Amino acid sequence: MALDQGTTSSRCILFDEDKKIVWSEQEEFPQHFPKAGWVEHDPMDILNSSLRVMYACATRMREFDAEAQVRAIGITNQRETVVVWDRESGKPLAPAIVWQCRRTADAMEALKADPYGEVIRKKTGLIPDAYFSASKLAWLLENVPGLRAEAEAGRACFGTVDSWLVYNLTKEKTHATDVTNASRTMLFNIHTLNWDDEILAYFNIPKAMLPKVKKSSDLYGTCGATVPGLDSVPICGVAGDQQSALFGQGCRQAGQAKNTYGTGCFLLMNTGEKAVDSQHRLLTTVAACIGDTVQYALEGSVFMGGACVQWLRDSLGILSTAAESEALAESVNDTLGAYLVPAFTGLGAPHWDPYARGALVGMTRGFRKEHLVRATLESIAYQVQDVVMAMEQDLKQAFAAEDSSEVPGLPALKVDGGASANRFLMQFQADILGRPVVRPACIETTALGAAMLAGLYVGFWDETTAASADAMEDTFLPKMEKGERSEKLAGWKAAIDGVIRSAKR
Ligand code: ADP
Repeated sequence: MALDQGTTSSRCILFDEDKKIVWSEQEEFPQHFPKAGWVEHDPMDILNSSLRVMYACATRMREFDAEAQVRAIGITNQRETVVVWDRESGKPLAPAIVWQCRRTADAMEALKADPYGEVIRKKTGLIPDAYFSASKLAWLLENVPGLRAEAEAGRACFGTVDSWLVYNLTKEKTHATDVTNASRTMLFNIHTLNWDDEILAYFNIPKAMLPKVKKSSDLYGTCGATVPGLDSVPICGVAGDQQSALFGQGCRQAGQAKNTYGTGCFLLMNTGEKAVDSQHRLLTTVAACIGDTVQYALEGSVFMGGACVQWLRDSLGILSTAAESEALAESVNDTLGAYLVPAFTGLGAPHWDPYARGALVGMTRGFRKEHLVRATLESIAYQVQDVVMAMEQDLKQAFAAEDSSEVPGLPALKVDGGASANRFLMQFQADILGRPVVRPACIETTALGAAMLAGLYVGFWDETTAASADAMEDTFLPKMEKGERSEKLAGWKAAIDGVIRSAKR
């Protein structure tokens, strides 16, 4: 059983031995926006929606087979979100501050300008930003009356969403998190794999409130739910959502990467046992810890992924559904040389320009809406290509520095997420990367990763079966000629350089 606790909904999926989905349940829960830029969740909504989808799945399972038993439970979750609760009563002591919340942005601007920001980046692999847990927890300690005293006395617990769920779901009331979630707090040294005392002092965070850090595939406790099929089942897999998807995609070797085409795009590349220090402002993060092995990953995100298609549909009204974009893009042979640079909210990795804004360049008289749709889908692929290139360069430099003969490279890009359903986009991505794009039949890779981490721990799967490729996957092979590819990439580079040059600063 995988519990996938996301930003807008909680989902539970049951997988069988063949990694096939047996049943799934999903429930959305309320989002709270108390002020401009602030985003909160009620920790009880996170917990109760999770419990309901788990119970519903267990109940349906028993309806089909009265003897069926869940073998293990894995948890994957929205990352960076902060929860604080009372160790005795289990009551939340404040609303959960969600990763998207910008309330600490000003405080973090100061850190960005401070040389200590670079020390933090080296230790945690994260570029100082309000996005990560540290400043959110510091804010709660400053602003929730009595919280600091409770925290110092060890009576208040801090955790990311996985911790909050583990505490509530285990009979033992375990206060723990896994290394992948810890690596998103900006309080965790990813090289020593310990909470960092110096950073804790910088943010004035009492160590007594932090969870114990465990491996991603490890025994967290036994399920306390007295529900048939769930009672006393081990909870033994935990990972943040993007790392879980990387694992679920079977990316276990250095150089293997996955991209999730959701609202934005999330790219993670496994870098093996080496924590690669990025020269392109990518994040370094823990990919997973299983047995005695810790693997790292580089992470980069693109702000406008599937959201560009939403823009075509909702703001311009030239599509009635996102899926229509595929046929429209395919109805023309090219964009007539035009490029869309969807920097609507600035540019993410590897350009990092908050001032950049969107542009459509190179239009000629024959340019029609079909060309715009095509240019939009192509822009998603170009942005992903830019991140992949940056990752490969970082990897190359890290391995070259050690005089290693074998520099890992990306064999094929594994994909998932809503917009990976678009065949035109997947083919164009393969063409532009010059490498195959592989889409598994089961695109629920986030949940599958958590199920695998748990299933490996109890021996439900062994490493070979867990890592085996999905027989039903779709592979998109690159077909574009080299010359055409270079020409298109040069055009894209000129367009994005123009956007960066003309940004108002
Ligand atoms: P998230 O988890 O970020 O909400 P999803 O993985 O559910 O995102 O993907 C939804 C996004 O994918 C939307 O932005 C939507 O516009 C886009 N999308 C969905 N289907 C298609 C499609 N067939 N072609 C292109 N984009 C699509």
